Amino acid sequence: MAQIDFKALIAHCKEYGFIYQSSEVYDGLSAVYDYGPYGSELKNNLKEYWWRSMVHMHDNIVGIDAAIFMHPLTWKASGHVDAFNDPLIDNKDSKRRYRADVLVEDYMDKVMAKANKELDKAAKRFGDDFDRELYKTTNPRVKGYLDKYNDIKERLGNAMSAGDLEGLKGLIDELEIADPDTGSRNWTDVRQFNLMFSTQLGNIAGEEGKLYLRPETAQGIFVNFLNVQKTTRQKIPFGIAQIGKAFRNEIVARQFIFRMREFEQMEMQFFIKPGTQKEWYEHWKEARMKWHLALGTPQEKLQFHDHDALAHYADAAVDIQFQFPFGFKELEGIHSRTDFDLSSHQELSGKKMQYFDPELQESYVPYVVETSIGCDRMFLATMSNALQTETVVGANGKESTRDVLKLHPALAPVKCAILPLKRNEERLVKMAKDIFNDLRLSFNVQYDDTGSIGKLYRRQDAIGTPFCITVDFEALDDNTVTVRDRDTLEQERVPIEKLESLIRDKVDMKQLFV
Ligand code: ATP
Repeated sequence: MAQIDFKALIAHCKEYGFIYQSSEVYDGLSAVYDYGPYGSELKNNLKEYWWRSMVHMHDNIVGIDAAIFMHPLTWKASGHVDAFNDPLIDNKDSKRRYRADVLVEDYMDKVMAKANKELDKAAKRFGDDFDRELYKTTNPRVKGYLDKYNDIKERLGNAMSAGDLEGLKGLIDELEIADPDTGSRNWTDVRQFNLMFSTQLGNIAGEEGKLYLRPETAQGIFVNFLNVQKTTRQKIPFGIAQIGKAFRNEIVARQFIFRMREFEQMEMQFFIKPGTQKEWYEHWKEARMKWHLALGTPQEKLQFHDHDALAHYADAAVDIQFQFPFGFKELEGIHSRTDFDLSSHQELSGKKMQYFDPELQESYVPYVVETSIGCDRMFLATMSNALQTETVVGANGKESTRDVLKLHPALAPVKCAILPLKRNEERLVKMAKDIFNDLRLSFNVQYDDTGSIGKLYRRQDAIGTPFCITVDFEALDDNTVTVRDRDTLEQERVPIEKLESLIRDKVDMKQLFV
């Protein structure tokens, strides 16, 4: 069994109808993607898993669906107009634009890769006796790489948190970082670039009619905080959850659906009494990690990563990182946002954003702990965890390989495929179609008779279908069919009337919540 590399994963997503480049006939639009028939099913299942576990499984969390457009002052209050910037740099020769901090980070990755290469070589040479940690401090070459890495990391962190654009440029010059595409070192100065997309209201000209496409879903929740609290009579602590599109004019738009210009977020803002933020922050860290692990994602592919530099609104922040094919990167953020957002909206709108606490008999602006996960990054994590190439031995004893998507059955786009052994045999076809018509009332199932059984199995493996039902001649005599398990390849004879409960047991999302 082998994990598939990133290029093969992207090709698989296209070939099997999971993800297409947007507007491909016009050579595509950079960093914008469309979900195909199986991709949209999988994405909907991920959203359902998140929504049910947040909203349906908590008495004190409710869901909303706010508009993408918001009053422009929203983004003034949230800090996005003034502070939602990335430092960009242009190459004068190639005319290409990059994020200055990412150029430095890529350089750091290369330094770390050199250290790891030396370490791996030494591990091979010394075998079982090798002490990796000791070697890091004693071997001058490895130590040199690691010191360099840490030095750059610290200087980058300092420059970023101080907004020191000259310092960033100085780092790029000093490290002699070149344009990754052309090798040119002819750079402009570093400038700030706002990531919000703007558009214009039809009936108001100029600045006054300027609107933004929301860069995060959270603000739709903050401005509705009192509406929701009053209409649902929730008491603090309580949460508001939302799934929706967000837009960011990302400069480094690459790595497939990891960094898109239009993407979807699943966010939950949890409103709490000031002073209790530490305990709720720990609570949601643990709860969110559990959510990921329930899907069967191996623990070693997930890790917490504390933020080195905190955003202007946060007093604590951690990422849940997933081991993507290109390394450990942010999948989800958990942020203790203090009362920053509600207080800013209160100040700018002149409307009270306070909650009257019946126990304390006093009013206060609540604090917020949020969990924020990108649906598309979750999709990429799920696909890269599930897709594998395996060698299998057929009934004739011959070896062959198969690409199989080992998705949790509750997430699989198609739950079961019904395949007649022979498509020209009317009785088999009728029986298979009857089973199909019955099961489609309960699950997303497929009927397929367009190839040999072996080929049909391979196709279902590639889209992650957990069960294939084959209707053979024996079925006509005893009303039993064979059910093939995607992962074990075992085949079991099952009475037709038991099919629904057998499948339900495996694909029901219920099992993820208990
Ligand atoms: P990054 O540091 O990777 O730019 P971020 O820290 O800006 O991400 P947040 O503002 O915390 O991200 O957004 C919450 C979540 O939204 C992220 O954890 C990620 O899963 C998702 N997300 C953010 N930007 C993008 C994007 N451009 N494309 C896809 N998903 C995104």
